[in-house]
Amino acid sequence: MNENSHAEYPILLADDDPISRRLFEKLLTREGFRVTVAADGREALELFRRHFFPIVLTDWEMPKMEGPELCQAIRRESPSRYVYMVMMTSKGSKDDIISGLGAGADDYLTKPAHHAELVARINTGIRILQLEKSLKAAVDEIQLMSVTDPLTSVYNRGYINQRLPEEIQRAVRYGHEFSLLMCDIDHFKKVNDTYGHLAGDNVLQSFARSLAAAVRQQVDWVGRYGGEEFLVILPETDFAGAMVLGERLRSIIESLGIQAAGQTIRITASFGITSLSATPPKPSVTAEMLLQTVDQLLYGAKAQGRNRVLGRVFGH
Ligand code: GH3
Ligand code: MG
Ligand code: MG
Ligand code: MG
Repeated sequence: MNENSHAEYPILLADDDPISRRLFEKLLTREGFRVTVAADGREALELFRRHFFPIVLTDWEMPKMEGPELCQAIRRESPSRYVYMVMMTSKGSKDDIISGLGAGADDYLTKPAHHAELVARINTGIRILQLEKSLKAAVDEIQLMSVTDPLTSVYNRGYINQRLPEEIQRAVRYGHEFSLLMCDIDHFKKVNDTYGHLAGDNVLQSFARSLAAAVRQQVDWVGRYGGEEFLVILPETDFAGAMVLGERLRSIIESLGIQAAGQTIRITASFGITSLSATPPKPSVTAEMLLQTVDQLLYGAKAQGRNRVLGRVFGH
């Protein structure tokens, strides 16, 4: 564990004795820690509320708020981020130790604290905090995988089913613009038949990547609705804006040269677009209704010769 990793874990130190406070502060600072000091439990809690500290080193007996009470309060304040807490005490009986740990402390040290031991115990805390961090990263990764289509890396059908109704509800409730775009690759079966299924997969990946790159990041999002059918969800976008985007996407896809199976594969796609206008609000509109509308428009675009965009304001 180097000094850099120490700086990542600022320490909140609470002790009412100015001499021991100064001593610990100096010792820990020398070890590369960033230390913030408090003269009692209440001050420590105030500091903690203003700024998160992953490590708390606290004296037991202090005026206003004692160590065990501080530990309990911090556990309540930070239910989802772990705080490693060490209590320092001159109380050495087993009963005291048990009640200190019961209050939420992870570890205890008897005063006067042995310096190397104190640092070693804080390093134990850092190992636990690092473990928590890697577990959280793994959970995030799994969560992302569970909503992502493995082939194209855009959102999957499950995510669409959950999120699309929420987006629509929000637009209706706040009277915001909202547009939905559905697109489908033209004659995709022929791509598979001509170049093989693997090349077809590459085409799907390029297609999805092109859609995702062309929309506003953070606001708009793309999902794979079926085999070669994709949705683009456009919050805060009116009909005119959605039609402009639809045409832009159509043109991007048309000019794409996809390298697969040793060839340059060209494709086109058809688009259906519908929009909720901000006024009047339509509280009864559902995701199914919008999906049915864009599906019909997409079918119409196919019937009219493909490689085109058909749109209609919802309810018109
Ligand atoms: P249209 O212009 O009417 O849309 O014709 P199309 O051939 O694109 O439409 P159709 O729906 O008949 O065919 C879609 C094809 O997409 C059939 C299916 O095998 C293929 N497909 C679906 N998912 C995948 C996939 O993950 N990879 C590959 N390579 N092909 C897929
Ligand atoms: Mg004290
Ligand atoms: Mg198709
Ligand atoms: Mg299709």
